[in-house]
Amino acid sequence: MLTTKQIDLILNIPKAENHIHIEGSIPWDLAFELAEKNKVPFPVDKPEDLKEWVESVFAETPGLNGFMICDRTINSSCVHEEDYERVIVELAKDAKRQNIIYQEFHLDYPLNEIRGIPMEVVMEGYRRGQKIAKEKYGVDIVYIAGLDRTLSAEQCANFVASLSEYLDMVAGIGMDCEEEGHPGIKHLESYKLAKEMGLFLTAHAGEDDDSKNVWEAVKELKVSRIDHGNRAVDDPVLMEYLRENEILCAMCPTSNILTGVAESYAKHQLMTLMRAGVPVSISSDDPPYMTDLVQEYVLAIEEMGLTEDELIAVARNAFKYSIKGERYLPLFDTWVADFHARWQ
Ligand SMILES: [Zn+2]
Repeated sequence: MLTTKQIDLILNIPKAENHIHIEGSIPWDLAFELAEKNKVPFPVDKPEDLKEWVESVFAETPGLNGFMICDRTINSSCVHEEDYERVIVELAKDAKRQNIIYQEFHLDYPLNEIRGIPMEVVMEGYRRGQKIAKEKYGVDIVYIAGLDRTLSAEQCANFVASLSEYLDMVAGIGMDCEEEGHPGIKHLESYKLAKEMGLFLTAHAGEDDDSKNVWEAVKELKVSRIDHGNRAVDDPVLMEYLRENEILCAMCPTSNILTGVAESYAKHQLMTLMRAGVPVSISSDDPPYMTDLVQEYVLAIEEMGLTEDELIAVARNAFKYSIKGERYLPLFDTWVADFHARWQ
């Protein structure tokens, strides 16, 4: 059970989040409402049945593949610019509730592209949402454009090139979707182009495939961060490389348990990486399927066994190794000093 001090820490510490996908974070009630408005066929008749449907998909298709089926279906509820804006505003409201002041959202446009939604519809909605999030909720949102690694090299490179219109709102590129059978090296040209455009580089790796994908991401794609990176624990040389080069692993414990990447919270790879000196942060990945960031912090202490100081260090990493969130470090450090003074 948490102490009053730990509850103060978890609820009130200023938070940053490095690894969360817009399309996987659409609140299910909102998705249902938008699907009805847009007359998009949905697999259930009532919003409260979505949970059961998701569970049935996971039972039939376990792991990341099952998740992607749900993700693509729920995201199909968004069609118009105002739908995309609404999603961001709702997510910012929820961020404020959790005292998240800086958030890096992966936007996976290809999930919309396959449904024929023009890029400007999606991006303008996200752009307006980003502005409202800051003005109304004080949440600073930065977008990371996600490449679907299962798509062709040409499709992804075209997507990266088209980001030139959106460099005021997009600060980085990432790469996600099913790793197994889809080596990231296929998208080397996309990464080179993104680098030339001045974008921050990250990639999902070492989630549902082994540590060689992490090597490939850092050595070939030259990323500054790894999303997940769980399998790095299998390779001490790689862990040393990540530590030495201060390459953050943006980890999502509950997501990893759901997809079978980690056996349990107690055995989650974060502890091994953290204690080997690799910078790690905690994120929620896709909250409706998993849990929110506050709850991730609760689980980090209660189930994973992080000490209060370790949780503070992990929370600080989320700002320190972020794309644009370093400016919040003085505010963060002042809060931590006040917290220690309050509880000494
Ligand atoms: Zn992810």
